[in-house]
Amino acid sequence: MPYPSRVFDVTVIGGGMIGASAARHLAEDGLDVAVVAPPEPTDPAAHTGPFGAHYDETRLSRTVQRGAVEAELARRARAAVASIEGFADRPVYTGSGHLFVSRPEDDEGMAEAVLNMPDGVEVLDGAALAGRYPSIEFQPGMVGFLDPGTGSLLSPRALVAAQLRAATAAGSHVFTSSAVGVASDATSTVTLADDTRVRSRKVLVATGAFTNGTGLLERPLALRMKTETVLLAELGEAEARRLADLPPMHYGVRDRGVGDVYTAPPAAYPDGSVLLKWGANTIHDRWIEGPGAIADWYRHGDSDASIGLMRPSMEATYPGLEVLGWRTHRCVVTYTGHMLPYIDTLIPGRLYLAIGGNGRSAKWADPLGALAASLVSAGKWVDPLPAERFEARYDGEVDVWPGRDLLVERRSA
Ligand SMILES: Cc1cc2nc3c(=O)[nH]c(=O)nc-3n(C[C@H](O)[C@H](O)[C@H](O)COP(=O)(O)OP(=O)(O)OC[C@H]3O[C@@H](n4cnc5c(N)ncnc54)[C@H](O)[C@@H]3O)c2cc1C
Repeated sequence: MPYPSRVFDVTVIGGGMIGASAARHLAEDGLDVAVVAPPEPTDPAAHTGPFGAHYDETRLSRTVQRGAVEAELARRARAAVASIEGFADRPVYTGSGHLFVSRPEDDEGMAEAVLNMPDGVEVLDGAALAGRYPSIEFQPGMVGFLDPGTGSLLSPRALVAAQLRAATAAGSHVFTSSAVGVASDATSTVTLADDTRVRSRKVLVATGAFTNGTGLLERPLALRMKTETVLLAELGEAEARRLADLPPMHYGVRDRGVGDVYTAPPAAYPDGSVLLKWGANTIHDRWIEGPGAIADWYRHGDSDASIGLMRPSMEATYPGLEVLGWRTHRCVVTYTGHMLPYIDTLIPGRLYLAIGGNGRSAKWADPLGALAASLVSAGKWVDPLPAERFEARYDGEVDVWPGRDLLVERRSA
């Protein structure tokens, strides 16, 4: 059933972190925008459509970045905070300074980042870390980089809601059924699962992990999807109060089964619980391919099998931690061949992409969405950031993947 005679300027498929941001920027640029944004499933186990990587209450943000493009994205993200908060119905950005802790010899990336260290970043040795954070037990030899200021935590749910609200206020129409096909003729037609057909001049695909194998693109992109497990400790009131000032932290913990930890202070979740987060790469992670397998992982993957693996490092880091109950959260990280999203043109004047968050794009979702919007709107790359850093690669075109390896392979190397 065609959507009543309206031909939009752009249809954005995927109202996740990057897609919702792109839709907002396109609409605020004066374009007539359709956003195909199925809501977060209320019953994930029974859900048959796509899932998103933004179904959570906390994501970490920081300004210490390894490369110039990343540093510029971080700068733009900070500049966008007020405009995002302006459309939010609850705070999106919270959190004190972000703490990055690792052993210098384990972490070439951080050594490089420190060369471009923004003003105000404090370097903390073991004694300084212990003095500043008495509730945390750091492993020996760790060095900390404390990014000052606020806003080092953001709520991905609240950010997506704010961006969609802003897009709607600027005239966009949100469709809540998922897209099942794209056909291009004189105009493009996006067919939705409920059989609605949305017509537009241009289409931007921003579907995250659910891109290859879904029939939306003719040729698969070079993408690697990885299972991600977050351990969540449920805290009582007193324990949550005791740990309320924990820093949002990336922690290069040395552990047999767990690495690359990211952790946030206790946060309130929609079911009323207060949860302390311990996200990580684990030796249980695996590559996962195709929408069927990815949806299965989201629906009923055995992430609880990692509780025993992840608990010891978390409990050693927060001595005396009093936990009411343990649970896990499942997610999928989408890696590209160059660790930045593919923001590119597939068919000039017609079909565009913004795909692949690489496990680190929540904090830059707004500027990434703005980049995609500027490409779609102008029909060519107009941003001063280098287009080649965002160029799409197709399946088979990437020999060496620069991003995360599987921890199990790193540990056995
Ligand atoms: C556990 C975890 C922790 C993370 N922590 C951080 C962090 O601390 N800091 C940070 O910066 N980043 C972090 N990230 C990464 C960040 O969340 C992602 O980079 C970001 O969500 C990517 O945005 P996206 O829009 O590309 O994808 P998503 O947010 O996944 O959005 C894609 C959207 O497309 C929709 N979709 C898919 N197929 C269709 C279809 N056919 N029709 C319509 N809609 C469709 C989905 O429903 C979804 O809403 C983390 C990721 C995970 C998994």
